[in-house]
Parts: sequence; C-alpha cells; structure tokens
Amino acid sequence: MRDAVPTVVVEENPDGAGAFVIVCDHASNRIPEEYKSFGFAEDALRTHIAWDPGALAVARLLSARLDAPLLWPDVSRLVLDCNRAPDASSLIVVESEGRPVPANRALDEEERVRRLDQIHTPYHDAIDVCLKRRLAAGLPTALIAVHSYTPVYFGKSRPWHVGIVFDEDRRMAGLLIRGLKADPALIVGVNEPYSPADQVYYTVSRHAGQWDLPAAMIEIRNDEIGNEAGQRDWADCLANLLVTATPGSLARRHAMV
Ligand SMILES: [Zn+2]
Repeated sequence: MRDAVPTVVVEENPDGAGAFVIVCDHASNRIPEEYKSFGFAEDALRTHIAWDPGALAVARLLSARLDAPLLWPDVSRLVLDCNRAPDASSLIVVESEGRPVPANRALDEEERVRRLDQIHTPYHDAIDVCLKRRLAAGLPTALIAVHSYTPVYFGKSRPWHVGIVFDEDRRMAGLLIRGLKADPALIVGVNEPYSPADQVYYTVSRHAGQWDLPAAMIEIRNDEIGNEAGQRDWADCLANLLVTATPGSLARRHAMV
C-alpha cells in the first residue's frame, strides 16, 4: 500500500506492469472500528448483502496471473457501496433484498458525507491515481471489475454461471463473452444478472469512461467460487481469455489530450 492511501483502501501489486487493472468493489465484509457502534448485524455480515463472497480471491489470482494492480475497499458495502454514485439512493442501504439494515436507519447528512469522505472518495481517488500513473507511463490499460452474485435472488434462481456487464464499449466484453460461450457447459449472462441500467456499473463507467479505456465487469455466481478449487478454476479460465487481448483491443479509442 502507498503511504498516501488511507487504510480502508487496499492496493496490491501497485507496480504490476501487465495490461490490466483490477478492482473489487465488494471484496470485504469488514466493519471498521469507527462504524461498529452503528450495530451492523453479525448474521447479515456473513451473507452476500454485506459483500461478494469469493470475489477477492479470484481478483487476487487474476492480479497475480496478469501482473495487474488490484484495488479494493476493506469495508462492507453495508457501510457504503463504493460501486454507487455519491447521490444514489443505494449508496447506503436501509434494506437489501428485502432485509432491513437498521444500522443505517436515520443517518443524517453529516454521517453520509463522512462515509463518502472516508471510504468512497479515497477509493476512487486511488483508482484515479493508479490509472493516471499508468497512462503517463504509456502502459496499455484495461479495467476489469470482479464481482460475485447470489444464486437465488428474491426467491428466483439465476441460471447463469457467470455474467459479463458492459455498456456501449464492447471491446473487453466481446472477448470475454466469445471465450466463455465457447464452453458449452457454461451459461453466460450477457448483461445478466445485472446491466448498467441497474446502477451497478458506476466504478467501471466512471474510471474507464474518463480515459476511454477498454473495460468490463465480471459477475461470477458465488456458489462457483465458494472454495479454493473453484476460485482457481475461474481465475485460470478468465486469465486465459484476458491474455488473448490484442494491442488493438487494448488501445484507447482516442488519444490522450
Ligand atoms: Zn458486487
């Protein structure tokens, strides 16, 4: 970790010189000491509403394999969701999947701003710094976000093993979707189980959009990566596809001005 980055932001392999930067917005279910008094329920912290189980392990394996910097906030999204716009109603949830989050009830504006200042701003600043440093050094850079999702949501089973979420920029998504669909055993979600319209594309859109970087968000069903073998299989599969990216697919669409 770099000195300037506050403790809630973790940056691993910051000098990784591969062609990718990896972010894992929902890596952690930790409640930092200063937020414990709000009374986040222990049983909720063990579920997917608090974090993306398995996602950090896959992100770390990808970071190692691709020699990629990896950034993640070491705080549960129940405190604040770093993958939401600062003015989004889902930035700090009072319920998730129908389950109340009493710890966030009746927060005042001052507390909302404090969480933005302590968590959201430093995390996104750290991603900015990382990307700017790489662009200044002339390193080709694609941004990949790693998430996981629950197999059953509001009582409904989700058939996809993996989903690729993307907006109008299909450079990375196309490569991943083509590669994943080549395996007939896999059910691949194309902007499923989420799409940018669900407000889940904030981190990628903000950072890749700013520099016109190729980007995609990878969602893995969390029962696929519930143990080390699954995490390794998925990291290998995704890394094998990502390393096939060509200089053309990694190029920014417009020159830096
Ligand atoms: Zn997530």
